[in-house]
Amino acid sequence: MKVVIDEEACIGCGACVALCDAVFRLNDDTGKAEVISGADCAAAGCCNEAAESCPVAAITVEQ
Ligand code: SF4
Repeated sequence: MKVVIDEEACIGCGACVALCDAVFRLNDDTGKAEVISGADCAAAGCCNEAAESCPVAAITVEQ
């Protein structure tokens, strides 16, 4: 399972971080979401929920 964030599309709303802070965080410099290095989407179990909640559909989860 792999998660990809379209940083161009991301508006930095923080919804993905609120729902799934084991995988997502906001970059201090850009204000946009990024995937935490080494995060395990399958183990976290919240990547799909985060993707569905993104208002600009910037998160893609590849099974
Ligand atoms: S939910 Fe979407 S728009 Fe909001 S911070 Fe996460 S990736 Fe960016």
